[in-house]
Amino acid sequence: MKWEGQRESDNVEDRRSSGGGGGGGGGSGGPVFGGRGIGVGTIVIALLGGWIFGINPLTILGLLSGGPPAQVQQAPAQRPPADDRMARFVSTVLADTEDVWTTIFSQDGARYQQPKLVLFRGATPTACGTGDAAMGPFYCPADQKVYIDLGFYETLKNQLGAPGEFAQAYVIAHEVGHHVQNLLGISDKVDSQRGRVSQVQYNQLSVKLELQADCFAGVWANHAQAARQILENGDIEAAMNAAAKIGDDALQKQSQGRVVPDSFTHGSSAQRVRWFNHGLQNGSVKGCDTFSARTL
Ligand SMILES: [Zn+2]
Repeated sequence: MKWEGQRESDNVEDRRSSGGGGGGGGGSGGPVFGGRGIGVGTIVIALLGGWIFGINPLTILGLLSGGPPAQVQQAPAQRPPADDRMARFVSTVLADTEDVWTTIFSQDGARYQQPKLVLFRGATPTACGTGDAAMGPFYCPADQKVYIDLGFYETLKNQLGAPGEFAQAYVIAHEVGHHVQNLLGISDKVDSQRGRVSQVQYNQLSVKLELQADCFAGVWANHAQAARQILENGDIEAAMNAAAKIGDDALQKQSQGRVVPDSFTHGSSAQRVRWFNHGLQNGSVKGCDTFSARTL
C-alpha cells in the first residue's frame, strides 16, 4: 500500500503512555473483559470469538455498565510521536478515510463529522465503558471514537494469519465504517431492536451491520484508489484474507473447533470477503444495503 508522504490526520489521540495496561478505567465502573496474564492473542481467539472488530462489545459494555458512561479522560489529548511509523501509518489511513467520506457526504449535501482515533495499550476508558485490547479494535458511538491497541496488528499477522499494510488499513476502514453507520442513524436503528427481537434475530441484524461496515471499508478503498492510487500488487488479496480470517466461522473454528451459525454476530468469512469486495468494486454507499439484500 502506498501511503508514505500522504496527509496525516490530526484526529489521532495517543494514550499509550498513560498506562492503562493494569486496571481499566480508574474506578469508572465499566466491566473489563478478559482476564489478566493471558496473551492478547489467546484472549482474542478464545474468549472473544465473534466479537473481534465489533461494535457489539461497546453497546454491550454500555448496557452492562448500566447507567452513565465511563468517565472520559481529563488529560489533554496527546499526539503520537513523529518517528512512530505505525502511528504515522494509521494517521495516514484515517486521513484518507476523512477525505473519502467528506467527499461522499458532501455529494449528498451533508457534512461528514470526523471521528477520533485513540491509540491505547491494555485498557482505556471510553464513553461506552472500559475498552479492553482483548476486544480487538472497536468503535464507540457515544464518543465517536475508534479505539485500537496497535498490538492487535501483531495478533492479526501472527495468530490470525493476516499480514500486510492494506489488511491493517482495512481494520481502520471497517471501524470508520461503523462511524459512518452511526452518522447515518443505522446503528441506532439496529440498537433499538435489542430486547424486542429474539437473540437469534438480533444476531442476524448484527451480522448485517458488520457486513455493511465491511462494505463501507470497500467503498473507502474504491474511492481512495480512484483519487490517490494507493493500491499495490497483493493489497486486495491481503485485505480479503484478513476479512476471511476474522469471519465468525473462522474464529469459532479456531476457538471451539466447530461453527455455530446462529451465534454469528459478524458474518462468515465468505460473507465478509463478499461485502468488502462489493464495496470495493462498486464504490457505492447505497450498494451496501445489507439490510435489504436477499442474500448475504
Ligand atoms: Zn465491526
